[in-house]
Amino acid sequence: MPASQSLSAPQKALRKLGLVRDIDLALHLPLRYEDETRLVRLCDVQDGQSAQFEAEVVSSDLSYRPRRQLVVVVRDGEETCTLRFFNAYPSMQKLMAVGQRVRLRGEVRGGFMGRTMMHPVVQAAGGELPAALTPVYPTSAGLPQAYLRRAVQGGLSRCLRTGALDETLPADALPKGTWPLSRALQFLHNPAPDVALATLEDRSHPAWQRLKAEELLTQQLSQWQSRQERLRLRAPALLPTGVAAQLPQQLLRALPFGLTAAQARVQAEIATDLSRHEPMHRLLQGDVGSGKTVVAALAAAHCIAAGWQCALMAPTEILAEQHFRKLIGWLEPLLDPLGLEVAWLTGSHKKKTREAMLALIANGRAALVVGTHAVIQEQVQFRALALAIIDEQHRFGVAQRLALRHKLQPSADVHQLGAAEPHLLMMSATPIPRTLAMSYYADLDVSTLDELPPGRTPVVTKVVSEARRDEVIERIRTQVAQGRQVYWVCPLIEESEALDLRNATETHARLTEALQASSPAALAGARPQDTDRSTREESAEMPKPGIEVGLLHSRLPEAEKKAIMARFVAGEMSVLVSTTVIEVGVDVPNASLMVIEHAERFGLSQLHQLRGRVGRGAAASACVLLYSLGEHGRLSDTARERLRAMVDTQDGFEIARRDLEIRGPGELLGARQSGVPMLRFADLEHDSLLLEWARRLAPRMGAEYPNLVQQHLHRWLGGKSDYLKA
Ligand code: ADP
Ligand code: MG
Repeated sequence: MPASQSLSAPQKALRKLGLVRDIDLALHLPLRYEDETRLVRLCDVQDGQSAQFEAEVVSSDLSYRPRRQLVVVVRDGEETCTLRFFNAYPSMQKLMAVGQRVRLRGEVRGGFMGRTMMHPVVQAAGGELPAALTPVYPTSAGLPQAYLRRAVQGGLSRCLRTGALDETLPADALPKGTWPLSRALQFLHNPAPDVALATLEDRSHPAWQRLKAEELLTQQLSQWQSRQERLRLRAPALLPTGVAAQLPQQLLRALPFGLTAAQARVQAEIATDLSRHEPMHRLLQGDVGSGKTVVAALAAAHCIAAGWQCALMAPTEILAEQHFRKLIGWLEPLLDPLGLEVAWLTGSHKKKTREAMLALIANGRAALVVGTHAVIQEQVQFRALALAIIDEQHRFGVAQRLALRHKLQPSADVHQLGAAEPHLLMMSATPIPRTLAMSYYADLDVSTLDELPPGRTPVVTKVVSEARRDEVIERIRTQVAQGRQVYWVCPLIEESEALDLRNATETHARLTEALQASSPAALAGARPQDTDRSTREESAEMPKPGIEVGLLHSRLPEAEKKAIMARFVAGEMSVLVSTTVIEVGVDVPNASLMVIEHAERFGLSQLHQLRGRVGRGAAASACVLLYSLGEHGRLSDTARERLRAMVDTQDGFEIARRDLEIRGPGELLGARQSGVPMLRFADLEHDSLLLEWARRLAPRMGAEYPNLVQQHLHRWLGGKSDYLKA
């Protein structure tokens, strides 16, 4: 391979697109095609159509008004057309000298002054016409189509010569009528002009079907393989023993409620995994409020009962604290008599405290270790870590899981027991649509809490224009007068000129002012105008006229955030204005109203998460989605769709399905951050039959044709297969 300094600019651009090997080039497929195989008459072209025709130049002038441009008029029979070029080179003027015949390709526009073409492709008339449609490839700056086309054709023909496209699928696995890959690729790079273009565009053509099948199979095979590799690793089989053996039963007895059927089922699935030697990689998904924390607590108890340590992680410190407080509240009283402790790893600990915690973790006294992802991933030495529980992690890219696993290797003495791997339980409140789970997460086991604990009140969702802000503030006043609490969520914390969003600080100031002012409407609503003595006494017990409004955003110091959260949780603060730091995990059953400002700017899953913060108590709850029309005076279609979905349903699975429809899997998985190799050709929604086929085939192929599997994965993934070993 030549050193990169000696590469030309287009060669570098090819490399940047990942087009390194011949096979990469052969698998780089056109976005669309242009038909240069035919010439039409100008009189047959409709306005607005793209066409290729030949014509004679009747005039050619450089004009300087309104700006410098070359204006050329051509004639084909009776029809004329004006061509305009803003960058005119002398060679173009020569090509289009008066009297020359030229071949033109581009869009023909109609107009008051006659038909025009802007920057058409021009060449001398009379050249040979290509026999196949001209492919247009996805490309990048510095990589002209013509260069890319030659490179792809070169790669393809070398692949055909060297047998790099030979069949890798077992003959008995090929559905009838399947095209061989070599034929499919030859066709897609050079389709015959008589093909029904629609079948190429919607990718229903057999050639496309073959590519999609290959791609989906690659995904399934690589995930199958990573699962096999994981199953060869050894984790401790967690069976109750010693002093803490009764912990799970004790915990169940101590809980203030019984498990739902879904919780009991999922808890049993996890317990079965934990008692095996194969490291668990399980995703626990359940809608907001479905009670994942109890399940996590039971898993932790199971681990500790076997004499091992369990680590609990949340994305932020405030969430770790908020979210695990309950769990710790349940477990700590049970651990204490056993001489076991809970260790907190937070960034805000003093050095001395932190060292004490680390010592507890290293000697095993700390049975439960709680912190953020980041803190735990630092060099923390566990004596005997057997289970890592990661909460509210929305993105479980394979690469992320890989990194996490490396960081959680227990200390050397446990290594010697031959059990080097911790079990992994990931919890997500963003349910994963079935198609995604079947494809991108095929190497994970998934448990689903599909039932909410009893006693939930549905949340009424309203979409309200920003213009009715005052009414919303009135509503807050009424809620607070009834002793309820309110969240107000803003999308940004500082004024951004570009986005012109009202920032949280400003909102906080305005709300404080509005709510602290005496409130005739609310007071009138709460107490009739009445001078009766008893009523006045009652009024003395009404909440203070000054309603406390707190402000929480991500730039506040951690300690201050916690203090504010604590006041809100304790009910000392009625209204909490916040950026999305409260998005996940917070549990304040007394909060009955959530206002989301600029709701049109939030993603669907995010809105759903936020809404899940209310409706946790017995009181009727509401979520107000405040929207404002952008500079165009209207909501975008996707924003409208999202807001509608929020009003339509409260089912997290339905929301996730719609979110997938609106955003596509890349956005949903956070592909860029997680390093998930995305599907390029297949589409989970439309190709579910192919997905099923690939899912069934992968394990059989893995077992019966290991060589073909390697060949297939090498073809499609080349060096990228590192990702697949999580
Ligand atoms: P999430 O799945 O969003 O993490 P949580 O675990 O925070 O949900 O649970 C939400 C609320 O429901 C908590 O207050 C929790 O104590 C309560 N809860 C959980 N399971 C049950 C149950 N089986 N019966 C009654 N309440 C429950
Ligand atoms: Mg939770």
